[in-house]
Amino acid sequence: MRLKQYLNEKRIRRFKFKKQKKRIDPIVRIKKAESIVKKGLAKLTKELSSIGWSIEFFDLLKIMSSIWKKNRINFIPDEGLVRMKELKNAKYMDSGDTDIDGDIELQITTRIMDYISKKQNKESLSSIKNEFAQEFIRVLSHELVHRAQWQSYGDIVHNSILKNKKVKDSYVQYKEYLKSPHEMMAYAQDAAYEIFQDREPGIYYLYQSWFDDEPEVFKSFVKIMKKSYEKISDGEELIIEIR
Ligand SMILES: [Zn+2]
Repeated sequence: MRLKQYLNEKRIRRFKFKKQKKRIDPIVRIKKAESIVKKGLAKLTKELSSIGWSIEFFDLLKIMSSIWKKNRINFIPDEGLVRMKELKNAKYMDSGDTDIDGDIELQITTRIMDYISKKQNKESLSSIKNEFAQEFIRVLSHELVHRAQWQSYGDIVHNSILKNKKVKDSYVQYKEYLKSPHEMMAYAQDAAYEIFQDREPGIYYLYQSWFDDEPEVFKSFVKIMKKSYEKISDGEELIIEIR
């Protein structure tokens, strides 16, 4: 099985890159994402209220980029309709990119403007339970998986990630992207987190529908997802029957 082969190879790579080895633990990453998002949103709420919540989209992205600069997160406008956005339940933030230095770029849709105008004076943006924060945490914790992958495996993963990034345009290529071991790892964590929070398991359904004809891929995904879930929920087992 491909994934198993990959994991075996990875063990060898891990040995080679021992110096840079980072612990990849979903709960640590999600907690980190939560804290990064929460702290930044508190600052954003403060800044926005100081200017009476009136701001243009691009200025908002600029302010956000400066707030999260120390976490090396930059915000850019969403490039448009990204495939499978709906299935991923993405509204304000569809995806991100992490480069070889670990710098993260997050794409924001203009829907954020509606959200901010609704939120003003009513509720703080900084509550991690709010819709935008939830999405932010999900996308960021996914990118933190990639940051850790970079830090652990560096150049070896570099080429395959770059290859997979550029090829999301066709059906087959999107499938290859979802199937690549580092994406499976990152999405499995996202899926586990969604289930843990009792949200609509969009990522789980995404993999289920895309790999309906490749049950062994889906099974591998579920296996990684269950492991992530166990870590996130502090030992609780996730029981899912796959037909
Ligand atoms: Zn990814």
